Amino acid sequence: MERLDVVIIGGGIGGSALGGYLALAGHKVLVLERLTEFTDRVRGEWMAPWGAAEAKKIGLYDRFIAAGGHHLTRNIGYDELLTRAQAEAQAVALDRLHPDVPGPLCMQHVVMQNEAIAWAAESGADVRRGVSAIQLTAGPAPRVRFSHDGATHEAACRLIVGADGRTSAVRRQLGMQMKEAPLDHLIVGLLVEGADGWPEDLQCIGKFGDLHYLVFPQGGGRVRIYADYAYEGQARFNGAEGAAELLAAFDLPDVPNSKAVAQARPIGPCRSYPSQDAWVDEPRTEGAVLIGDAAGYNDPILGQGLSVTLRDARLVGALLVEHDDWNLRLFEPYVAERRERLRRLRFTASFITTLNARFGPEDMERRTHAFMKMREDPSLLMVRLAAFSGPESVPAEYFTEQFYQKVFGTTEHMVA
Ligand SMILES: Cc1cc2nc3c(=O)[nH]c(=O)nc-3n(C[C@H](O)[C@H](O)[C@H](O)COP(=O)(O)OP(=O)(O)OC[C@H]3O[C@@H](n4cnc5c(N)ncnc54)[C@H](O)[C@@H]3O)c2cc1C
Repeated sequence: MERLDVVIIGGGIGGSALGGYLALAGHKVLVLERLTEFTDRVRGEWMAPWGAAEAKKIGLYDRFIAAGGHHLTRNIGYDELLTRAQAEAQAVALDRLHPDVPGPLCMQHVVMQNEAIAWAAESGADVRRGVSAIQLTAGPAPRVRFSHDGATHEAACRLIVGADGRTSAVRRQLGMQMKEAPLDHLIVGLLVEGADGWPEDLQCIGKFGDLHYLVFPQGGGRVRIYADYAYEGQARFNGAEGAAELLAAFDLPDVPNSKAVAQARPIGPCRSYPSQDAWVDEPRTEGAVLIGDAAGYNDPILGQGLSVTLRDARLVGALLVEHDDWNLRLFEPYVAERRERLRRLRFTASFITTLNARFGPEDMERRTHAFMKMREDPSLLMVRLAAFSGPESVPAEYFTEQFYQKVFGTTEHMVA
């Protein structure tokens, strides 16, 4: 029986960040990762400025930059409700949204995962890949059984951390319930290369017809595209022609240089996911705690998952490093901060979805009303800062029924 301080299940961005952080502080850490090799699952490749700042605090930022991390400095929201000139006049300087980093950070998720897990190992964590059949016992004497290299192992520890993603087996084994917001739209993603005509510092997000499009260049002609679309059209980008369909939909006459993206070459899978929020109110029990997607996630429409996960890793890591008594109450500040953080992001995601990712005639009316309101009072746009500077950077009154009502004239579809 191995004896450890912490066993972390899942060696993605969250598990590896926490593993490295704790190992550097002198803790005996075991990271168990199911995969021997990471592949493109269509996940986060746009890290919000506040998330990049979290990566810096943990110690991963320089490594991400050295591995090709690419900052974006401008956002232009070309959109069916704006002329080109109006959209360009409202361009946002992304490099001014957080004091610690020059804008959002874009890079391949797989590269980030490889960097994070290598960093965890180099920092002193015992990282094992290709593990399976994980069985947990939480409580006062936590234990983890797992298979690795054809043998069954058992480890005793002071704490188990579930960092095993959206479909977390740890969450299931601990019997923690996840709540979900209603599902009415999907998100599809694709990585392309050869988009050399797309400006490398520019991200574009907006809506045309039945698509909410997002374009995030990564440098060197590589671009990650995502799009939100109605749940009713769920098969739209599936199958052998899915990538070609998606690229054709990105040929947007009102978005300058969009042809460069539409004609680029796919270099990964084209995959759709439910675009909705899910959350666990109490992601802790005696002897175990969840972080990252395992503890619930924000609707990917906002691109906050990496940032949420890195903040989780840092907060949990700091509590464990600063305190000797690892009891259930230790995680109180983490749970409280996370609950409010995800509530605000949930609200913001429902706000952006109502604004950009609902496609019926009534939705169009609501959207036009909101654009008019925001033109009259540009301060209403401030809620969007939550997704850039961090949810805590925006005053609390923006995450309320009253605010949503003011912009849309209704509270329909608000998720709080
Ligand atoms: C379509 C889509 C687009 C997104 N876009 C963005 C974006 O632009 N920006 C952003 O910030 N976020 C985005 N996200 C979210 C972001 O990718 C996630 O929030 C983030 O990857 C969560 O990290 P994690 O470490 O918690 O989980 P994961 O990345 O899922 O890592 C979990 C790890 O655990 C391992 N694992 C799973 N089960 C087991 C097991 N039983 N035993 C051992 N190991 C196990 C997995 O192999 C994996 O390595 C997006 C998500 C989706 C679905």
